[in-house]
Amino acid sequence: MKTMKQFPEKVLVLGLARSGTAAARVLLDSGKDVTVNDQAASYEDAFVQELQKRGAHVVLGSHPLSILEGIEIVVKNPGIRYDHPIIAEALRQKLPVITEVELVSYLTQQPVIGITGSNGKTTTTTLITEMLKYSDCNVKLAGNIGIAATEVAQTMQADERMVIELSSFQLQGISGFRPTTAVLLNIYEAHLDYHGDLESYVNAKCNIFKNQQADDYLVYNADDSTLKKRVIHTNAKKIPFSVTAKLDQEGVWTDETHVYFFDEAIIQLEDIVLVGKHNLENILAAVAAAKLNGATNEGIQHVLKTFSGVKHRLEFVGMKQGRYVYNDSKATNILATQKALDSFKKGIVLLAGGLDRGNEFDELIPHMENVKAMVVFGETASKLERIGREAGVQVIKYAEDVNDAAKTGFSLTEAGDILLLSPACASWDQYKTFEERGDIFVQAVHTIN
Ligand code: ADP
Repeated sequence: MKTMKQFPEKVLVLGLARSGTAAARVLLDSGKDVTVNDQAASYEDAFVQELQKRGAHVVLGSHPLSILEGIEIVVKNPGIRYDHPIIAEALRQKLPVITEVELVSYLTQQPVIGITGSNGKTTTTTLITEMLKYSDCNVKLAGNIGIAATEVAQTMQADERMVIELSSFQLQGISGFRPTTAVLLNIYEAHLDYHGDLESYVNAKCNIFKNQQADDYLVYNADDSTLKKRVIHTNAKKIPFSVTAKLDQEGVWTDETHVYFFDEAIIQLEDIVLVGKHNLENILAAVAAAKLNGATNEGIQHVLKTFSGVKHRLEFVGMKQGRYVYNDSKATNILATQKALDSFKKGIVLLAGGLDRGNEFDELIPHMENVKAMVVFGETASKLERIGREAGVQVIKYAEDVNDAAKTGFSLTEAGDILLLSPACASWDQYKTFEERGDIFVQAVHTIN
């Protein structure tokens, strides 16, 4: 492990969201000279005052280029783009620009399981964490759905593992970060506004294994042709997973009946609660990472027999008067809604709509065979109505919002049907977050009598 002594002395932390504040704290704790800079935070904020008290230089309200004077390294919030003037200037001055996760390799020697991919990160991260917990392994969740990585890294005990979800934004900003198990789920075109082109996006994702060594593991989706080509360049032991190929000599796979780890049957498919082929991919990846890190078959089975999905991600909310209710509010793009639609064999009443990003949604049509009715809402309502008509959906209704859509949608279902909120759009035309939208949907369903 590198120590904080090897880390440059004069650090600029750019962006004081959760990860920036955590990074600043860790750096101050180890005696670094830290400047923090944020556009939106206020001098009145408690965490800003705390950082100031601990000795940070605080600059708020703008990003003056002069703060780069004397700085040796920049720790930037993953969301700040590389063409932001201050980052562009830092790069021009040849300063290293990293993200908070890079600091992990300076803070702990414990095993780290890192998960990335365009879709399925949160689900897989949660599955791995739960599988290890139910196998009595000591595990700490870090990153997006947990506590900031640096904060967790600082408190790791000798027998603990860290499980961390990693975005392409975070991975673009690493130089020495090394997960002992890396999981690469899939690569779809995404975030090209940030990364510029597909090549840079793929490069950022593949950074997850660039520092891995011969005794590390790289779990990857062997059905993804882009990944298959890229992983040739790893030093780690490759563990492929596939929903199509028999991998009894090399990895994790499935047939009509079971999930297998090499030639060992782990669980029967009919015992698994999570629905959807995409979730089966997440499950295979999770089984691989969990088994490689000491999970027991009993622990894995317990999780897969009980886990009904991460909140808002094709989450099985429950039965309502004989209808199956699913909240997939996190489906903020067309691909996610395609996956949701492919998960059910019949009788879907689809609730969709939201922020208009200029999509036409035609790619949904081939996946709408089992949609018997649709309720559309938000900015994209009329576009989705057109798609519904073209797909031959018999009943299409408009709703004011998701609350109204839930009630209207329910009135179109019969016992045995699936009431599915899978909007294919971001929520920001009507809601602050996809979580708020999903919660309102669930609440509305609960109040139906
Ligand atoms: P992420 O954290 O990468 O955004 P989530 O686990 O939160 O992924 O899932 C987000 C959405 O992506 C889900 O609603 C689901 O529809 C879709 N999804 C999940 N896993 C996969 C997968 N393996 N392949 C494709 N789509 C997926």
